[in-house]
Amino acid sequence: MDLSEQPGSASTVKKDWKASLREQLLTSETTFRHDLSFVPVSSIAGQYYCEVKVDHEYVRGEIPTEEKEVGTELHEEILAMKRVRTDELIKHIEKAPRVTASFLLHGDVEKLRIVGVPDAVIFEKGSPRWLIELKTTRGDTSKLWRDQALQVRLYGTLLETMGFDCSNLELVLARMRQDEALEPDEKRKLLAEVIESLARHTTNEVEARYGMKVFVFPYASAEAKDAVIWAQDYWLGNRNPVPTKNESKCRACEYRDWCPYSLYKPVKS
Ligand code: SF4
Repeated sequence: MDLSEQPGSASTVKKDWKASLREQLLTSETTFRHDLSFVPVSSIAGQYYCEVKVDHEYVRGEIPTEEKEVGTELHEEILAMKRVRTDELIKHIEKAPRVTASFLLHGDVEKLRIVGVPDAVIFEKGSPRWLIELKTTRGDTSKLWRDQALQVRLYGTLLETMGFDCSNLELVLARMRQDEALEPDEKRKLLAEVIESLARHTTNEVEARYGMKVFVFPYASAEAKDAVIWAQDYWLGNRNPVPTKNESKCRACEYRDWCPYSLYKPVKS
């Protein structure tokens, strides 16, 4: 990324993915709301859950919850990977028949500079074949939430912006229950088994074994770009954050007790 270039001035020249991986991300003169030089993918996705909640996270700070802590712990156990230098990663992508990696994605989409680290990108023959995001929940794993689907779509768009060939890319959202009783060995094998099931088109088997739901979408860049066009007005300071209209989101929200937009009204006994 040329940091002197303004976001939105789309270049027609395809980037070299190796150069994109080696690029050092420096803070730039461009700043977005909350003085950010780069907008995280997770925050843009969060706008489609409740934009006011995203605003609270920056203004008031994140509030730890047990659900977030359990989710982070599970992620660390399931997605443990060996740390390598960028040149080593590039060599693996070029030479290995299949390699799984997690690394920083970045790029300009519409008027925003966006960054994010997906849980896993699986390369085959030098190109990304699957991008996997794992979500843990205490609720129903079969629900496909718009913000979570957008998150994986945005990661796909960033991969393409960095110059990767995304013509065979599929985006994968794996939702599993936090309370699924898994042995340490099962957690270590889970990611490899999901990848194998994707390769064999047998995701129903891992769904049954691990009590999870695996959503697979073909990559299409236009969907994420349309979503960024609405979201960017908040980051550019063109409008105030919009609250959710869904009372059940407020009921589950850690900011509900003092959020002025909360729709949750506890019943007084
Ligand atoms: S209480 Fe409702 S409106 Fe307020 S931040 Fe939470 S989800 Fe959004």
